[in-house]
Amino acid sequence: MSISTAAPSTPVLADLVCAVREIVRLERPPAEAARLVAGRIEGFLAQPDLLPAEYREGAPDRYRQHLVHTEDDGSFSVVALVWQPGQQTPIHDHVAWCVAGVYEGAETERRYELRGEGVTARLVAADDAINNAGTACGFAPPGDIHLVRNSGTSTVISIHVYGAHIGKLGTSIRREYHLPVADE
Ligand code: FE
Repeated sequence: MSISTAAPSTPVLADLVCAVREIVRLERPPAEAARLVAGRIEGFLAQPDLLPAEYREGAPDRYRQHLVHTEDDGSFSVVALVWQPGQQTPIHDHVAWCVAGVYEGAETERRYELRGEGVTARLVAADDAINNAGTACGFAPPGDIHLVRNSGTSTVISIHVYGAHIGKLGTSIRREYHLPVADE
């Protein structure tokens, strides 16, 4: 496994990548890898010098994704996401396990269950979580349909880690869901 060094970094960010690598090399099942990575990165989220300035830049029209690191063997990728107030993802799921850690502000996450099929297919909101700065959560497909939003009034910055090669795929999103949202 070799190390990509092309992207801007900081010593703390390089340490975070090494910490994730140590866990990924254990080759645990996806849900366990996500849980372990989430637990491991929380300590880094409290460090004020984690991100270089370029990864803190947002965009006026949509949340912005900065690709921080892709492991050369494709086993994981790290991105920094910058969310202005009101910016959100579509409802989506992922190709691989995913960890969301909040660096600044609070990220709101809504999870959905997919019910029915064909013309009766619909989404039902299952769970709302507010992830505060310094906390991380991890999960793995299937059953990972969700959206993430900045529901606050200031910028949110988060670090997401995916068990996939985002550099090659362009995105960690498996599918976007444009279905009716129902009560049940
Ligand atoms: Fe997601």
